[in-house]
Amino acid sequence: MENHLQTKDWGLGLKGHVIIAGPCSAETPEQIERVCLDMKNENMIPNLFRAGIWKPRTRPGSFEGIGEDGLKWMEIVRHHLNIPITTEVGNAAHVELALKHNVDVLWIGARTTVNPFAVQEIADALKGVDIPVMVKNPMNPDLQLWLGALERLQTVGINKLAAIHRGFSDSYDKRFRNKPNWSMPIHLKREWKGMEVINDPSHIVGNRAGILETSQRAINFGLDGLMIETHHDPDNAWSDAKQQVTPATLKQILSQIDFKSTGESENPSERLNDLRQAVDHLDDQLLDLLQERFSMIDQIGAYKRENHLTVFQSDRWKYVMESRTQKGVQKNLSEKFMKELLYCIHEESVKRQEKQLREADPVKR
Ligand code: PEP
Ligand code: MN
Repeated sequence: MENHLQTKDWGLGLKGHVIIAGPCSAETPEQIERVCLDMKNENMIPNLFRAGIWKPRTRPGSFEGIGEDGLKWMEIVRHHLNIPITTEVGNAAHVELALKHNVDVLWIGARTTVNPFAVQEIADALKGVDIPVMVKNPMNPDLQLWLGALERLQTVGINKLAAIHRGFSDSYDKRFRNKPNWSMPIHLKREWKGMEVINDPSHIVGNRAGILETSQRAINFGLDGLMIETHHDPDNAWSDAKQQVTPATLKQILSQIDFKSTGESENPSERLNDLRQAVDHLDDQLLDLLQERFSMIDQIGAYKRENHLTVFQSDRWKYVMESRTQKGVQKNLSEKFMKELLYCIHEESVKRQEKQLREADPVKR
């Protein structure tokens, strides 16, 4: 998939790595003004100002967002910073109010992306409206749901789309509030060419201390921007107090990040070309070897058929897995990679041999 407008083409003056900052929640007009003034004083003006107006909370009773009043305070942001604003919408009523108050960019939250009914309701409410929409990954690491939400929006004519990577709920991994699972945003980029993915380290890490490291990793992987929750007085924020940073801290974090480019707009250097050619050649050799290996597997398959042996044999599998993993680790390949590679090769081998059996001795009907 491809064909949608990039953030630089949204008409909002966004370029380079997009930086989105602002509080988790809009709380009071004074709070919005203080955040804006601190951003201005620090000369730390983001590309987009974020503020949650409706807050999806896991359990009732905590602050669930200020509602429509907060949208009126976005004029304060425009007055002081003159930058576009973005907020989360979770249903058609939110969309209607956000449009009424001229919110520039909408985002769909993780708890909404999981629900195709809710995403469709939002998409239907946006039919015929020209507004950029960012879609956070669903709570669970399901690429299809993430893609599906983006597709539902594209289908109603929204062509200014971006994704936000905010991590995945995993109650076993205490290092993160939401586990990053970096392969997911990369996978989204593989599946949808040109889809920009903005990293949200605040909701991944869940505390201030880890924001720099996660942001740098996102940039290293080639993600396209950062959404960082920013508050003038984080400790007293009405939601997500532990993870919000002051504009001064945000400035410091951004100054420490080594922002890298994909280099795709320039012609690759001679050195990079040489290295890539060497890799192309090695891949050819790998493919030749795999072809040879599978032809051997087919011969073993024929032997198993003639001798009425089963395709899967656990002792052999155990030996293959353990011996190759050990050798791979000695060659500085990770154990996880070796296991995944061997599962993949073995699965294909088993399937080929079982197909041989089926075709040689079709079930009589
Ligand atoms: C938020 O951005 O404040 C928020 C609620 O995020 P998420 O949907 O990622 O939990
Ligand atoms: Mn938040």
